[in-house]
Amino acid sequence: MTQIAESKNVALGAALDDAARDLPDGWQIHITIERGAGWAELHNPEGVRADDFDSTDLDLHESIRRGIRLAQKAEHVCKPSCHNPCLLEDW
Ligand SMILES: [Zn+2]
Repeated sequence: MTQIAESKNVALGAALDDAARDLPDGWQIHITIERGAGWAELHNPEGVRADDFDSTDLDLHESIRRGIRLAQKAEHVCKPSCHNPCLLEDW
């Protein structure tokens, strides 16, 4: 295995672990693999697919991380302790 393929596998494994730990309650990331392609979809706790989650230009591990951030952002309510502007605004 090439070093690049190996590091992508490590990144994917880490992203899967992060999703299992960091996704807010009820949110799901669905991963579909077919020959020559793989993609992720983000589903909210009502089971609705997030249509603002476009991962076509990303590697799978980057897609998973973007899905985690979108779900966290959707659940986030700013508090006085947030940075101003809230750091989540950049997500
Ligand atoms: Zn905030």
